[in-house]
Amino acid sequence: MAKLARRHPDNTPGDWYVDDRCIACDVARQHAPNLISSTDDGLSIVTRQPAGPDEEMMMWRAALACPTRSVGTISHRDTPAGVFPQEVAPGVFLCGHNDLRSFGAHAWFVPQANDPFLVDAPHWDRTLVQAIEEVGGVDHVLLTHRDDVSDAHRYAEHFGARVWIHAADRDAAPFATDIITTADETTIFPGMVAFAMPGHTRGSVLYLHSERHSFSGDTLAWSRRTSDLRAIETIWYSRQEHQRSLLRLARSGHHFEYVFPGHGDWTKGPIDDMSDRLTRLT
Ligand code: SF4
Repeated sequence: MAKLARRHPDNTPGDWYVDDRCIACDVARQHAPNLISSTDDGLSIVTRQPAGPDEEMMMWRAALACPTRSVGTISHRDTPAGVFPQEVAPGVFLCGHNDLRSFGAHAWFVPQANDPFLVDAPHWDRTLVQAIEEVGGVDHVLLTHRDDVSDAHRYAEHFGARVWIHAADRDAAPFATDIITTADETTIFPGMVAFAMPGHTRGSVLYLHSERHSFSGDTLAWSRRTSDLRAIETIWYSRQEHQRSLLRLARSGHHFEYVFPGHGDWTKGPIDDMSDRLTRLT
């Protein structure tokens, strides 16, 4: 819950505000880009109060996704139903409830008939769990890398799901049931390719789903500033390996129309020339 005593002084007057515990992860601004902006030091503040139900919902999404729970209302309004999961593309849902341990990384949910899956894990939340239960649960938790594990073990245990992680990052998820060992790519269930992307971490994996959706972890994201694909700049393992991984992906012959990252923006609609964009990027 946001703390009124710590309301950032630069918030615009009105019910919604951001407190100064913000860690500048950008998530709230991704959900409410015209309502929440950045100060010079990267913290979030409300710069315009929402007008109408659509913008109110954007603020609720920002509030429930914020890993420090820094977004709230002075009037302590009750959270409405149906904030998350949020369908962001046909059949692909954003979980919200981003966890502080993963510096606010996004987690994704695809409730398909066979092999429904989560990519990375959100903070444990009963309302979200119930929403996932109502559409049949998950069979797989696909971890993109060691940083974004969060409450994966709780979701996996609750739903009896298999947990996938690359061997090079496996120590971050000792409860994993399936270890990916490829240095290149492997199909782990029908329609799902695990593509090894060492760079950000040694065990980073990008999951390509149905040649449409790229669940990219901390390798690629969409930029709302340039409206283009961008490479994640934060590298813990090897920048050279990161560049090699991107080049391998560009030359792999795989196609995708959407990018759903751990950090950063996601594509808001299908992008036909994603392969060209990736080639230009590399
Ligand atoms: S999501 Fe929360 S912590 Fe992240 S930038 Fe927004 S207000 Fe700050």
